Amino acid sequence: MSALPFTVLARDGRARRGRLKTAHGIVETPAFMPVGTAATVKAMTPEGVAATGARLILANTYHLMLRPGAERVAALGGLHRFMNWPYAILTDSGGFQVMSLASLRRIAEEGVTFRSHLDGSRHLLTPERAVEIQRLLGADVTMALDECIPYPASREAVASSMQLTLRWAERSRRAFRTRPGHGIFGIVQGGVHADLRLEAAARLVAIDFDGYAVGGLAIGEGQEVTFAVLDATVPALPEDKPRYLMGVGKPADLVGAVARGVDLFDCVVPTRSGRTGQAFTRNGALNLRNARHAEDPWPLDRDCSCPACAGYSRAYLHHLTRCGEILGSMLLTAHNLRYYADLMEDMRAAIASGSFASFAAAFAEAHRGGQAS
Ligand SMILES: [Zn+2]
Repeated sequence: MSALPFTVLARDGRARRGRLKTAHGIVETPAFMPVGTAATVKAMTPEGVAATGARLILANTYHLMLRPGAERVAALGGLHRFMNWPYAILTDSGGFQVMSLASLRRIAEEGVTFRSHLDGSRHLLTPERAVEIQRLLGADVTMALDECIPYPASREAVASSMQLTLRWAERSRRAFRTRPGHGIFGIVQGGVHADLRLEAAARLVAIDFDGYAVGGLAIGEGQEVTFAVLDATVPALPEDKPRYLMGVGKPADLVGAVARGVDLFDCVVPTRSGRTGQAFTRNGALNLRNARHAEDPWPLDRDCSCPACAGYSRAYLHHLTRCGEILGSMLLTAHNLRYYADLMEDMRAAIASGSFASFAAAFAEAHRGGQAS
């Protein structure tokens, strides 16, 4: 029995309706994790995040190890207390940000040496240190350190990176201290190559993690390729453990991945879009910067109960966005996170009632043509 219990409550095709029991509460799956990079979901209070329905957020090891520092967060009572978020937290391993943000990276068997993008200071991130940092932060879900290589890359480069990730996964698992309500996930790499993905999945399952992530996707390969990798990989993962697709995605990506058996997601799309004037609705995305909203007295979405839709017109949101007002970012982020949470809730209900296929068909129909009216 895992220290981080996960129960599949219902199945509909390959889609699953599940429940993850963490030290900081229950997470109903499929679930979307808002991204709280620097121990804050940008433009949101923790109360506002919780009000959207989110019960699990993601925080970034790379950012927090550099500033304010994991030991400082631990001395202040851990990340939950530090950021005033009482529900569950998943921390990434730092691997992805080291690759995308840090300079002068040097990858060796021991770990990755890099210079901070903030002040140029030199750091070594090993699998053991990545796990220790996440324990100091108090993460409910810890991620094993992986190497993320850019897309496209040669098959040879993908294969040798995957082998390193597997050796780091073993070291990460060994370094993890088991505590009730806490767990560690391994990350399946292997690029777009089904055989490499299957080898990675089999070896991670042999190590025995509390959950399995599919990494190295949503980096430019396109939705069709992402789905093909999921079709190859997900059936090789254990039925009784949660599956997490990292860094995905847009609403249509989530629906397609849930259909393929994925339980957890994170992505900056709803929060970042909220800060650039984009809103997601049941009929597609809206760009609030567009002049056609300038005199529109209606809310973003008449069926949404978020603070933005309860009291504000598209015309006002257009005005705030055009003026670069902070309130525009706050309201659109709150709306987008509520939209994502509602989408996940609708998918959970559809799976539970055995109607996921008709839900997915109705979703595709409503999103045909891209922009909403
Ligand atoms: Zn709304």
